[in-house]
Amino acid sequence: MTSMSETDSGEGNPASSDFIRDIIWADVASGKHAGIVTRFPPEPNGYLHIGHAKSICLNFGVAAETGGRCHLRFDDTNPVREEQEFIDAIQEDVRWLGFEWGTDAYHASDNFDQLYQWAKHLISEGKAYVDGLSAEEMRAYRGTLTEPGKNSPHRDRPVAESLDLLARMRAGEFEDGALVVRAKIDMAAPNMNLRDPVIYRIVHAIHPRTGDAWCIYPTYDFAHGQSDAIENITHSLCTLEFEDHRPLYEWFVDNLPVPSHPRQIEFARLNLTHTVLSKRILMRLVDEGHVSGWDDPRMPTLSGMRRRGIPPEAIVDFCGRIGINKSNSMVEMAMLDACVREDLNKRAVRRMAVLRPLKVVIENYPDGQTEELDAVNNPEDETAGMRKVPFSRELYLERDDFMEDPPKKFFRLAPGREVRLRYAYFVTCTQVITDAAGEVVELRCRYDPATKGGNAPDGRKVRATLHWVAASHAIDAEVRLYDHLFKAEEPGKSGDILEDLNPNSVEVITGCKLEPALEQCETSKAVQFERLGYFILDKGSTPAEPVFNRTITLRDTWAKVQKKGG
Ligand code: ATP
Ligand code: MG
Repeated sequence: MTSMSETDSGEGNPASSDFIRDIIWADVASGKHAGIVTRFPPEPNGYLHIGHAKSICLNFGVAAETGGRCHLRFDDTNPVREEQEFIDAIQEDVRWLGFEWGTDAYHASDNFDQLYQWAKHLISEGKAYVDGLSAEEMRAYRGTLTEPGKNSPHRDRPVAESLDLLARMRAGEFEDGALVVRAKIDMAAPNMNLRDPVIYRIVHAIHPRTGDAWCIYPTYDFAHGQSDAIENITHSLCTLEFEDHRPLYEWFVDNLPVPSHPRQIEFARLNLTHTVLSKRILMRLVDEGHVSGWDDPRMPTLSGMRRRGIPPEAIVDFCGRIGINKSNSMVEMAMLDACVREDLNKRAVRRMAVLRPLKVVIENYPDGQTEELDAVNNPEDETAGMRKVPFSRELYLERDDFMEDPPKKFFRLAPGREVRLRYAYFVTCTQVITDAAGEVVELRCRYDPATKGGNAPDGRKVRATLHWVAASHAIDAEVRLYDHLFKAEEPGKSGDILEDLNPNSVEVITGCKLEPALEQCETSKAVQFERLGYFILDKGSTPAEPVFNRTITLRDTWAKVQKKGG
């Protein structure tokens, strides 16, 4: 199911290659361009998701590899859906991924004057006209994939009349939708995009950047390629749904006095299992309250992933591994998970935390005594050093790590059994205290002072090593465990997408106990809670009431669950 790239290596291409890099490196070799210029062109109508990361890594990556530049350009041609909040968030997210556009920040709206002039230019050349068909009529005239369209009765309106109407559209004389400007191409073209596409429409709305300066706006198609041309973009890399727009893209740059002729090349979008990569649907999840916001840790947005603790390096690594290809496919979330685990395993410090505490009293340990035991911060990284972990008579163990009546394969703590407490001692359970309902509320244990550090001098072995936290020093915290946002692999495939939401995508656990070193945590650095997974301090956390999000488990539990379920 996971797709890999259809690559073959390009000549002179030092980076791992794909068909786009091959084309670009060939252009570098032939000296076709003075330098490579790409762009990442988001519409600021939502937050960026991991699909956008694929495009960001490609555009900024290629520019860096070839010593070129990558522009950040906002394709802000639809004032109704665009907001400053999204513009700011997009910049933050691109930077977070590790990419920088320097002074090359542009907006399609910077070109509104030029685009207006070019609309007039097309009209003057007899290549565009003002049309007054209603939206419904326009649809009917457009024809279908199997039938040609019909010319609008206004198609041959005199140039002067169209120019006059355009000026009056601009002056605000007409209501939204009353008139449009259309390119005069071919109503019988097999490619529907060439059937006299709309290039300007009336929208009385405040634009986040140009305010009320305009009440007519260029369509995406009329703004995108020309903005590329104005910015001297050499390679305009976009997703496959724009393949059918390419003839139109070229028609505009061929028929307008643009300063350069960029080349559009399409690649496959990223699709990921168990989530959706569409701003429209993500916005719906936010608006209808199915998630707490764009940065809900379950969201596939970059801000959600950041809050979840996923390192940007893991996302960049993932984008490199999936490669760039020409056919749409579905990538398994497990592949992203693997990149996250690999990255965090190297960099995350280890700590101990007990999510569902069970109190344990070490009967033969002196009351009031505390020892500082040595613990390794990260066995994968010597430079991470050591820390001290306090040990005392009262501890917390994980409730799941004890069974009063254990089945055969349960090797953790049970009555009469000895286990190792990580970095501490061997302890043996001597007594189980239950409440009136028969629930275990406390364990009594004895420790062997000769096993300090976790090894027995007589060489005897135990089958389990458990994590623990000293009660006297524990920090109380809330912990949130996450699962896939959607239980279906391809949400919405068979009906309403909301039906596919995973009702158990978050579990909130309060009263968790953390070792004191976790007081110094950052919202930007995930830590490993030993045996439980990688976690990160939530950005909404306070010192008085810390909240940790689980980024990911240590192993792929989902695959196991699915296998079990058949
Ligand atoms: P959405 O469908 O989520 O609204 P979009 O394509 O409308 O996405 P844009 O803001 O236009 O969003 O996207 C900016 C750039 O990111 C475009 O070049 C687009 O092709 C690319 N992009 C968007 N989604 C993906 C994806 N899933 N995989 C790869 N590239 C993507
Ligand atoms: Mg788009």
